[in-house]
Amino acid sequence: MAFLPTEIKNQCVFLPGCDRVSVSMKRLDLWHPVVSGNKFFKLKYNLEAASKMGAKRIVTFGGAFSNHIAACAYACKSAGFESVGIIRGEELEFQERNATLRFAESCGMQLQFVSREIYSQKQLPFKAAPTDFIIPEGGANEWGVHGCREILSESDSTYDYIAVSLGTGITAAGLSHALFPQQQLLVFSALKGALTDSDFFTFADAKRCRLFEQYHCGGYAKCPPELVHFINDFYKQNGFLLDPIYTGKMMFGLGDLVQNGFFKDGAKILAIHTGGLQAISGMNARLKANGLLEIQTEL
Ligand SMILES: *Cc1c(COP(=O)(O)O)cnc(C)c1O
Repeated sequence: MAFLPTEIKNQCVFLPGCDRVSVSMKRLDLWHPVVSGNKFFKLKYNLEAASKMGAKRIVTFGGAFSNHIAACAYACKSAGFESVGIIRGEELEFQERNATLRFAESCGMQLQFVSREIYSQKQLPFKAAPTDFIIPEGGANEWGVHGCREILSESDSTYDYIAVSLGTGITAAGLSHALFPQQQLLVFSALKGALTDSDFFTFADAKRCRLFEQYHCGGYAKCPPELVHFINDFYKQNGFLLDPIYTGKMMFGLGDLVQNGFFKDGAKILAIHTGGLQAISGMNARLKANGLLEIQTEL
């Protein structure tokens, strides 16, 4: 599909205390300024399936800052589908659009705002047409898992560990099926609380994974000053940004594991930069409104 990147770089990174192990990142954030990262891998086979079924319109779900909504809007535009986004929060309908929703609308996505209660039922607020293809929130289905297997390529076989963050767990599930024989997948949850209902367990090869649930920094989309400090230091040391919701927390957790001697000397770790940088402006607006330290976006 035309919107998938052809080559994704791995880049050596510096983390405090990482002189005895080697840490690289796969820069899925690099190839598009707004819609970057794992979301395209989740959408690839969904859109292919939609196309095979003769669908004309893609309908999907997300929150107001959702990377999935932004990516889906863009991918639908590129692939020639109409798109509808069911957005959580009816009060947003008459408010000024944030950057994510503005972008989605600029790609032609039609937004429909629903209450949290209706949203949580995961049902459409209208009757689907036969030519509608529905993608669940976060691209969380079998097609999404299938696409995420393609994040790893042959040249990644030399790493001992692959690290990834978890929201729905679909990306981690896909990676768990793509590991090379000696590899283990380190999964860093961005969510607070039990993951028992997570799609991760439905789709992943969990034997090959090690799940870390203590690096959510207070909960999903919470961004305390210690995390902002970490992201700003990382930016100064490595010259590129981490998003505060997923990759920032993963790298924070990975740094903690490195410093606490989790890895043997010489271990080679590849962390997946799943993108999501479009969320920084919204997060900074929130931090600023609360008088908190903001994420630095220029050096
Ligand atoms: C959505 C997202 C994730 C989480 O992916 P899941 O497949 O939902 O677990 C990680 N990083 C970024 C930047 C994302 O946008």
